[in-house]
Amino acid sequence: MTTYATTPEATTSGHRLEQKRSIIGDFPGPKSVALAARRAQSVAKGAVSGVPVYAADADGGIVRDVDGNSFIDLGAGIAVTSVGASDPAVVDAVREQVEHFTHTCFMVTPYEGYIAVAEQLAELTPGDFDKRTVLFNSGAEAVENAVKVARLATGRNAVVAFDHAYHGRTNLTMALTAKSMPYKTNFGPFAPEIYRVPMSYPFREENPDITGAEAAQRAITMIEKQIGAETVAAIIIEPMQGEGGFIVPAPGFLPALAAWAKTNGVVFIADEVQSGFCRTGEWFAVDHEGVVPDIITMAKGIAGGLPLSAITGRADLLDSVHAGGLGGTYGGNPVACAAALGAIRTMKDQDLVGRARNIEALVTARLSELQAELGEHGIIGEVRGRGAMLAIELVQPGSKAPNAEATKAITAECLRQGVIILTCGTYGNVIRLLPPLVISDDLLTDGLDVLESAIRAAQNG
Ligand SMILES: *Cc1c(COP(=O)(O)O)cnc(C)c1O
Repeated sequence: MTTYATTPEATTSGHRLEQKRSIIGDFPGPKSVALAARRAQSVAKGAVSGVPVYAADADGGIVRDVDGNSFIDLGAGIAVTSVGASDPAVVDAVREQVEHFTHTCFMVTPYEGYIAVAEQLAELTPGDFDKRTVLFNSGAEAVENAVKVARLATGRNAVVAFDHAYHGRTNLTMALTAKSMPYKTNFGPFAPEIYRVPMSYPFREENPDITGAEAAQRAITMIEKQIGAETVAAIIIEPMQGEGGFIVPAPGFLPALAAWAKTNGVVFIADEVQSGFCRTGEWFAVDHEGVVPDIITMAKGIAGGLPLSAITGRADLLDSVHAGGLGGTYGGNPVACAAALGAIRTMKDQDLVGRARNIEALVTARLSELQAELGEHGIIGEVRGRGAMLAIELVQPGSKAPNAEATKAITAECLRQGVIILTCGTYGNVIRLLPPLVISDDLLTDGLDVLESAIRAAQNG
């Protein structure tokens, strides 16, 4: 067991960094300002950051910047560092692996770590059948490959995606992604044979009583009438949408779509890149309704921060691809595989599925109380989500009109107070909470205190 250098103030919490918010001096501090100036001369403008400070260290629920400020991390690098940004099990596994070899290329000289990750994914993903896995580097790459497999296996071309979907920024995945600005605008032409159908978005349904099954039928009718079931290779859906606004479809929506796909020989792909790995209080978001996808795409939380992605699915589908048809230079890099095995061990050992449910209980109780208190003329339209993937949709008082201005003001105020909070949503009006699952109740509560006061300020201002 390795021991790590601890800061003088490190507590008995088991973390290197003291788990406490603290902003000292100017914000952003002088070292961050200096880095921003260098950045402006060297990094392309299109690659932006949500936070104006530069990271020096991160541990547990804390990100420390180069000027010594400590922020409460309610974003986990977009749902990536669920086990923390320097989880000892990940750090140990990575250190051990880099001391031996950093790369051989699995397509040249294979190694055990890749196989061990594939075995873990077969065990953790739903479905009581033979499974196969291929590893890649990014979520977009996993999505691309899931679609490749579905097209080859079915001999069909069409792919169905949903309103508010986000599947990545490569050419095919831009086409699958719904939102134009900033992801798609002027980056076309896009890949052909992608069709978009309506999502189940309970808060914004015209008919508030529409059931999940009815919303699924609305999408299915569109597929059958406008595309033709027999031309559809795959349906791809985020079982709980991420960038689109943390949208939880009405109960029954996913099972009805999965059943239709099965009947019609269509591959049902669940994009769990954001919702996977304990995040929603289950290993995968599809588990909440017992839906078993044909292929699951995974990335973000899989490897404690190292770049790794995967597709896992029915052996008959994945094994239908000819030899050499799937791969890539870095896919399933041995260091990333070691990190994944460490992260998965931490998720199991620390019961992070259970921890995500505790976070849900703590956060939703507080936010629902605040929503009730602000009342009908409050800016909180809806509090929703699952596990530690929770959202507040902000509206103009007394209506459902999106309130992007309040959303921006609230996150900016939180940041000044030392809390990193992300936003999302087609209308830019959703605050999303994605804390590392290892965050302490105390730190989370302090972060919520700050968020609550920022929401009150926006309500009154
Ligand atoms: C982030 C995300 C992707 C893209 O992953 P990258 O690693 O950024 O390519 C795809 N699908 C979903 C649901 C995501 O949240």
